[in-house]
Amino acid sequence: MPSGNHVERDCVIAGGGPGGMVLGYLLARAGLKVTVLEKHADFFRDFRGDTVHPSTVTLLGELGLREKFLQLPLTKLSTMDAVFDGQRLTIADFRTLPAPDNFLVFAPQWDFLDFLAREAANYPNFELLMSTDAAGLIVEQGQVRGIKAIAADGGREIRATLTVAADGRASILRTAAGLVPDEFGVPIDVLWFGLPKPPDPPPVTLGYISSRGMVLTIDRGDRYQSGMVIRKGGLDELRAAGLDALRDRITYAAPFLHTVVGTLTDWDQIKLLSVQINRLRRWYRPGFIAIGDAAHAMSPMFGVGVNFAIQDAVALFNAIARDLAAGDAPVSKLAGVQRRREKPVKVMQLLQRNGHRAIARAATGSSVAPRWFVMVLRFSSPLLRRITARFIGIGIRPEHVRWP
Ligand SMILES: Cc1cc2nc3c(=O)[nH]c(=O)nc-3n(C[C@H](O)[C@H](O)[C@H](O)COP(=O)(O)OP(=O)(O)OC[C@H]3O[C@@H](n4cnc5c(N)ncnc54)[C@H](O)[C@@H]3O)c2cc1C
Repeated sequence: MPSGNHVERDCVIAGGGPGGMVLGYLLARAGLKVTVLEKHADFFRDFRGDTVHPSTVTLLGELGLREKFLQLPLTKLSTMDAVFDGQRLTIADFRTLPAPDNFLVFAPQWDFLDFLAREAANYPNFELLMSTDAAGLIVEQGQVRGIKAIAADGGREIRATLTVAADGRASILRTAAGLVPDEFGVPIDVLWFGLPKPPDPPPVTLGYISSRGMVLTIDRGDRYQSGMVIRKGGLDELRAAGLDALRDRITYAAPFLHTVVGTLTDWDQIKLLSVQINRLRRWYRPGFIAIGDAAHAMSPMFGVGVNFAIQDAVALFNAIARDLAAGDAPVSKLAGVQRRREKPVKVMQLLQRNGHRAIARAATGSSVAPRWFVMVLRFSSPLLRRITARFIGIGIRPEHVRWP
């Protein structure tokens, strides 16, 4: 019940990213009182995870949102192609997945989040507080009871049966809960920048990989969200070498971009993503749980971060919604969510760490992948592409909405 600055909810969620918004939507749809706090005034943040995997499209279907979602401005991909030293390879063939969700989607994250916010707003028990910063936890006798927040009009307390940290990889709330992630060293960073699409572009390709670098080209209609993988901490060296050297590296890996790299005229156009992989040993404490990047920061490799955050949200919803409706958030259920989600996270992070080691070779002038590996990929049976599509697109232990 609202009472001045103190508000009582079934669940309060810090962070309006994919994990927080999907959880908020699911709880509201189930009739629970839920508040999502987002520190920014809007969802517009360029260079974020834009990959929506088949498993998420299936989930949207289960919620009756699939067709509306597919009307957003998005790009559908039926295969994941990469060019290794000039040789085009299909790494995953999503057409081999069960129809109708046999494609990968690139949807600007702000469109996706706006869409979820609009849909959630249909439920009067859903509340989204923008420009509201989760600053700390309300803890009473060892039990988390809600969030202390700061908004433009002052501080407020939102008390709830369950508090969820979905506030991303720099999570304030997980720190407030005394949870510290184990960091796994990452040898690479990514520079992100926009490039116009040149006339007669090649087929949609995720990345161009050569001994002098790796360039990502995420299709955004008339332009690319482009990324360049660099050695961790290598930005200063690159800046010292100048923009010409950067443009050279881009066109060495992806020669077809030579007509458009000239649009990069200022370092302000280039954003650094400090790639991180980490994981909490314990995701929860009484009345509290962390999900998504707050529990396990993923590398952008395979573009799975958005989907893992959403899968966590669905797993948490399935485990706890009925208890929340009865005014309870049993710790055993929170522990069950960690147990369920930890395996897919661990397996993917292990693969990402191995992939980083291969990519980091490029930064030292070696081939990203040994020649034999490229040949195996090139001539491997369609079975391998089918397995990769399944692993990337659906993953281990996909979640399905079980209630109501
Ligand atoms: C540059 C970049 C590129 C990426 N590329 C890809 C990709 O191609 N594909 C992919 O799948 N993944 C990618 N990722 C990762 C992906 O974006 C994340 O894994 C995913 O968004 C995690 O979702 P989340 O909901 O857990 O957290 P986030 O998306 O990080 O959302 C957290 C939200 O919490 C808000 N917040 C933070 N602190 C507070 C606070 N104190 N109070 C209130 N709100 C707060 C933030 O503003 C944010 O909106 C990329 C990440 C980055 C940074």
